[in-house]
Amino acid sequence: MVTLHTIEQIRQAVQNARRQGRTIGFVPTMGALHEGHGSLIKAAQRQCGCVVVSIFVNPTQFGPAEDFSRYPRTLETDAAYCQKLGVDIIFAPCAEEMYPHEQLAWVQIEKLTAGLCGAARPGHFRGVATVCAKLFNCVQPDIAYFGQKDAQQAAVICRMVHDLNMPLKICVCPIIREPDGLAMSSRNRYLSADERRRALCLYHALQTCREQIVAGQRQVNRLTEAMHQIVERNQGRVDYISIIDPQTLEPLIHIERKALVALAVYIGQTRLIDNLLLDLNDLENPI
Ligand code: AMP
Repeated sequence: MVTLHTIEQIRQAVQNARRQGRTIGFVPTMGALHEGHGSLIKAAQRQCGCVVVSIFVNPTQFGPAEDFSRYPRTLETDAAYCQKLGVDIIFAPCAEEMYPHEQLAWVQIEKLTAGLCGAARPGHFRGVATVCAKLFNCVQPDIAYFGQKDAQQAAVICRMVHDLNMPLKICVCPIIREPDGLAMSSRNRYLSADERRRALCLYHALQTCREQIVAGQRQVNRLTEAMHQIVERNQGRVDYISIIDPQTLEPLIHIERKALVALAVYIGQTRLIDNLLLDLNDLENPI
């Protein structure tokens, strides 16, 4: 495994791998790696001959009042984890490498970014789409791997690649959870012991929603009402609880077939997100 810091180095390394006939799988991350990231890496390894993991805390996707400066930066531990998993290349540029001058070109995805996390975090998805476009241009992967954990981000990236005819495939991988159900996240490490217990309310709210749907409830307002109660009972502050079309991200009133149940909740100062993708034709699988 090599850790590379410059765009020139990563281009060269990928070119060498390609010359050897290896396909390039790419896992973009902000580091503080956990098994959620690990699952993307393993998916890439199953399909590609060379796996590149980027570790870059992207300043342009954080709002001025957000946690950019305190976001965990753990490159050494991350590198050891990647090494253990058998990653081929880590790309860990500094901010100056990715943004050497004032950035004037931005990628803006309309409509999909208006609601959910986009409403509470103006500019967030512009930063995400732009950095992913830049990283795709640096790494030039055949397949890039994203987590369903960030459902809106996955939808935005899929649409960017489609609408801009970017020459790669996007693979969206399932949410990896702690044994008690909490979705793994780099931000979980901000939680105190009490907050960690209360953070389970996101998972419990999703489970309850699923149970009510299995029992026949289809009215979105009834379903979200029950979720609000669970979160508020645990002193969580709701940013949003939404049931939307998984592709357009438009709000649903009544569940017909496919639905994305998504929520963002503050537990103390920490904003956590989670979601559940449902298909009424296939309600067998538990979350
Ligand atoms: P991040 O480092 O938080 O930007 O995440 C990098 C990638 O890992 C994104 O595509 C996330 O959706 C994905 N990811 C983060 N947490 C999980 C999880 N618990 N399960 C699956 N994928 C995840």
